[in-house]
Amino acid sequence: MSAESEYTCCMCYKAIDAHTHNGEVYWTSGHNAQPLVPQDTSDASMVEHGRCCDSCNGIVVQVRMMQAFGHHETAGMIIGMFRTAKTQTDAILAHMKVLSALMAVNE
Ligand SMILES: [Zn+2]
Repeated sequence: MSAESEYTCCMCYKAIDAHTHNGEVYWTSGHNAQPLVPQDTSDASMVEHGRCCDSCNGIVVQVRMMQAFGHHETAGMIIGMFRTAKTQTDAILAHMKVLSALMAVNE
């Protein structure tokens, strides 16, 4: 069972799923999206928090693994796309690109 929280994911801009246990909502604020968080959130279309949904957290974890295993160039490229996003559209496009690239790599 899933309920929607008040948060919008800072990467894909879909609603962050609330986590429930026995029908009780116990967690609504998603995951820490660092380092895939835009630095300039001054545009009105941007969310100001750095929280992401369950699905995007999978990308965040993969990028942290790349860093841990020394793949700094690839990790840096992905991080750069999110850090430099200036609008919601930039963030969503970065999310789509990274998602399809990771799917190709994992095939
Ligand atoms: Zn997301």
